[in-house]
Amino acid sequence: MTKIKKTLGPIIVIILFLAISSFIFIFHNKTADIFSFFILLIIVSSFITESLIIDLTALLITLVGLIGMSFTENIGRMILVGEIASVWLIIWILHLFNDRIKYQQAANNRELKDMVSDIENIKKEFSSNKIRFEKISERIRQYKNLTSATKEIVKVTNLQELKDKILIISKQILNCNNARLITFLPTDDRPPDIFDAWVVKKQSPLLIQNTLRDYRFDYSKIPNELKSTIAVPIMNNKSIIGVLRLDSDKENRFSQEDMSIISILVNVAEMTIENFTLLEKTKELSIIDGLTGVYVRKFFDERLQNEIIRASRFKKPVCLILSDIDHFKKFNDTYGHQQGDEALKRFAQVLKRICRETDIISRYGGEEFSIIFPETTKSECINIAENIRTEFEKELINNQHITVSIGISLFPEDAVEHNQLIRKADERLYKAKSTGRNRIIWKD
Ligand code: GH3
Ligand code: MG
Ligand code: MG
Repeated sequence: MTKIKKTLGPIIVIILFLAISSFIFIFHNKTADIFSFFILLIIVSSFITESLIIDLTALLITLVGLIGMSFTENIGRMILVGEIASVWLIIWILHLFNDRIKYQQAANNRELKDMVSDIENIKKEFSSNKIRFEKISERIRQYKNLTSATKEIVKVTNLQELKDKILIISKQILNCNNARLITFLPTDDRPPDIFDAWVVKKQSPLLIQNTLRDYRFDYSKIPNELKSTIAVPIMNNKSIIGVLRLDSDKENRFSQEDMSIISILVNVAEMTIENFTLLEKTKELSIIDGLTGVYVRKFFDERLQNEIIRASRFKKPVCLILSDIDHFKKFNDTYGHQQGDEALKRFAQVLKRICRETDIISRYGGEEFSIIFPETTKSECINIAENIRTEFEKELINNQHITVSIGISLFPEDAVEHNQLIRKADERLYKAKSTGRNRIIWKD
């Protein structure tokens, strides 16, 4: 609309000018007519044009031309009319040109605006990519730490070490200072809170990003400063043995990914604990006799050496018993090997019943058993041996009573070296056999 106005403006002005000037020529030039024509032109041009300076200049030229017309001949008037018309024509062209520039400028402005908003968008995208990149870098760091942590964890040799290590590592990985591990051991001083209790009950991990917005729990029982938490159960053989907890006083401190990382850590810890248990079992199996449940000869040898070293350091006695079941071959031959095994088991039960926790009972070989009595005098040992002998004699195996012969030796009285101590007990056992069996010999 403005464009049409601007294009038509000068044309209308020229037409008006031509019409009015013709009218003036016809009815002779009168100054009053010229001025009224001039005023008319100003009004029209200020209405229909935008550039007032250009239009006023044109009007001034028109005015001068028209005044000039009052003093000139007809031909001179014609030239002036032509000149004035040319001025208005140039102005009209200028207007057109100006419009095109303005139009182009507007288009350029629009394009510039688009470009600015594009740049803004790129900037925004860049900053969001930067945040994403930082997050990814942080995750990479965490997973790298997790890999080296896994290697560290599998190296530990006991539960306490494992507990300490997991706490240090989880704090490091998540940059969190407040981590603790409840293992339900008597050594744990802090009882489980409602989050731990939830994990124990559900046996599944718990992530609370904002304690104020999680209505599963009664927050009157939670300290105000606790805003977010991760709690992961530690399982062993399908039962829960502990909870790894990370707490923060900031809301949304932990994410789902953080919990996955802690879960991986706990998984490694669980495998390590399982390895401990297996290792313990293997160790136990290698030192325990399968039939009787007492220690094997290898273990006995080691322990006897250690006990002698300790006894000599603390100037304490160590007593040793070697026992051998009487006529056992005959018993086996008469009642069968299975009954023989039963007799061995019964003898081991008698030994376990009579001996103290600190005494070391071993199967020395076949139907021979040895017992180490730390910090025990010979007279105490003789009493125990007598007890063993009489108690075993009372046992009924396949309706038979079996007897046992026993040899006793004492450190340091009879020998100071473990092989000599065994030899001494063995000699006395042999003597017990040769002097009629079912007896105890403690001196030469
Ligand atoms: P002694 O009174 O002189 O000791 O006579 P003995 O027959 O007991 O003689 P010896 O100690 O030489 O016999 C050992 C027997 O113990 C031989 C073997 O048949 C039996 N024996 C050894 N180990 C086992 C076992 O694991 N199970 C059973 N059933 N018998 C065993
Ligand atoms: Mg024997
Ligand atoms: Mg025997």
